[in-house]
Amino acid sequence: MCVFTHFAAGAVAGAFSPHAALVPVFALGSHMILDMIPHFDFESMFLEIVLGLIALGILLLGGVYSLSIILGGVIAALPDLENLLVKTGKIGKNRKLFPSHSGILPHGARAGLVNLTMQSVLSAAVLGFLIWRAA
Ligand SMILES: [Zn+2]
Repeated sequence: MCVFTHFAAGAVAGAFSPHAALVPVFALGSHMILDMIPHFDFESMFLEIVLGLIALGILLLGGVYSLSIILGGVIAALPDLENLLVKTGKIGKNRKLFPSHSGILPHGARAGLVNLTMQSVLSAAVLGFLIWRAA
């Protein structure tokens, strides 16, 4: 999934986590589940990072300052850092550790622009819900 989708899923996981200590579990779990679904990914990691930061900015500008929500989003997006390291040649493809990247869990097939549209709409809905909930 796109980084902004992982961020939105992790943020909502953080919002509903019964305890702050469980936020990383739910956030990283959401990343694994979403990666198993067929999905669209941008080739450009720069674009992925910018869109992820825009999602973070939308929450902050919307008045969402809950540590669990923000941390959930950031933690959920973090595993894709290893994709950045592979794309920039810092590590080899076989050095990926995250289960949905390394092959321990199946990775969803590539999907087209319809999937990108779905990711965008669902992520916008999640961010909007979190902003509405914080108001
Ligand atoms: Zn991933």
